[in-house]
Amino acid sequence: VSTRPLLELGDAYATELPRLSVPWTAAPAPAPTLLALNEELAGELGVDAAALREPAGVALLVGNEVPEGAHPVAQAYAGHQFGGYVPRLGDGRALLLGELVDGRGRRRDLHLKGSGRTPFARGGDGKAAVGPMLREYVMGEAMHALGIPTSRALAVVATGDRVVRETVLPGAVLARVAASHLRVGTFQYAAASGDAALVRALTDHAIARHHPEAAEAQNPVLEFYRLVVDAQASLVARWMLVGFVHGVMNTDNTTISGETIDYGPCAFMDTFDPATVFSSIDHAGRYAYGNQPGIAQWNLARLGETLVPLIDPDPDAAVAAATEVVTSFVPRYEGYWADGMAAKLGLDAPAPELARDLLALLHAQRVDHTTFFRALSSHLRGGQPRSLFPEPEAFDAWTARWEALLPRDRDAVAVAMDRVNPVHIPRNHLVEEALTAATAGDMGPFQRLVEVVTDPFTERPGLERYAEPAPAGCGPHVTYC
Ligand code: AMP
Ligand code: MG
Ligand code: MG
Repeated sequence: VSTRPLLELGDAYATELPRLSVPWTAAPAPAPTLLALNEELAGELGVDAAALREPAGVALLVGNEVPEGAHPVAQAYAGHQFGGYVPRLGDGRALLLGELVDGRGRRRDLHLKGSGRTPFARGGDGKAAVGPMLREYVMGEAMHALGIPTSRALAVVATGDRVVRETVLPGAVLARVAASHLRVGTFQYAAASGDAALVRALTDHAIARHHPEAAEAQNPVLEFYRLVVDAQASLVARWMLVGFVHGVMNTDNTTISGETIDYGPCAFMDTFDPATVFSSIDHAGRYAYGNQPGIAQWNLARLGETLVPLIDPDPDAAVAAATEVVTSFVPRYEGYWADGMAAKLGLDAPAPELARDLLALLHAQRVDHTTFFRALSSHLRGGQPRSLFPEPEAFDAWTARWEALLPRDRDAVAVAMDRVNPVHIPRNHLVEEALTAATAGDMGPFQRLVEVVTDPFTERPGLERYAEPAPAGCGPHVTYC
């Protein structure tokens, strides 16, 4: 009989940075019911999944019980929301339960979302509805399966509470795991306090957690900044390569770890269009698909501003050094993107002009992004991806240029392409269908969708419906957060 607690949580963030959080506990959930449990992730964390399914486990996942020895906190942060600075955001409906060490020795945050009002709640009710929490679950698992750094859902528990939105909805708490919840907005909050020692302590904490190698550099803070810029450049390139639109790239939703976090009105693009926006609140298209690299760089500039006093005692030298780093975002991003596009196209070397010309074709002829890239390998096996184009002659001309660059072994190329171009992404109409059913009490479609998108590169008989674009007449997709 094991006497180990089900969850062993550290409290490094709470104890090392007490001014950046408030000790807090979750609001009681009246009738918790486990809706979804990520057994694979539980296994990675060394947590007993069967025990999590028991009432005592569910009580931990919904926040009704505090794990033994844990000190949950609501984290403080500021942030630019749609470009406007808000000095105090913070976890208005979320808690950091503490830090777990996973089976590979990595420290990871365990965090609850939808767990009741906190001192940062402002006008909010502190709650979350079943649909959006399950959206975060399925989107995060899809991203993880695609090899894209992301927070991951451990569980979604229905609270038994009602949540008032446009309609009255069932409430839920999401338990999620992330490399950390340090955000650009965390640094903005610390910097706005005017206390340089606080920014220093936060930076030291972040270096130790995410980039210990920076501590050895000649200028550790500058090196840390460079590594964060690089991680975000890589991350956003990966989003672009799969057609992911985050939807709310505020500085408080931009991580220091380089993981995708805070899935709100996010979605995968259907037909290729840089102007694609899904969020019902993004009227100006600030966070449109094609704007994401530029927005990431803008957010990283806000991070740099908070670090300037730590980079060099001479302000001019510090600004010059930080500017050089943030400027390097562009070649870093372009490099990651070009490498990723080369892999999607089955090429040994980057061919950015060929890739950009292809995207212009997809845009002009309104071709489905995911369907096209998956179909492209079929050209090497005698298939007809040209049939996806209303005016295929332009694609034929592009194909001739592409074929001239292809390695000789076409079979191997096709296999390699199918390993990077997914057949299954969480398509908007399927996500809507799954969340609508779940809200009405039927978890079947959600479970099937998770199964499909967590094996994204394998074409399987009987799943054709999951691979197809939305049927005509679905109309443009809109996501409400
Ligand atoms: P988001 O855009 O969802 O990342 O949230 C932005 C800010 O609003 C964060 O400080 C959240 O904690 C807060 N927030 C969002 N929804 C609620 C809610 N229902 N109750 C309290 N705070 C909320
Ligand atoms: Mg957020
Ligand atoms: Mg949030």
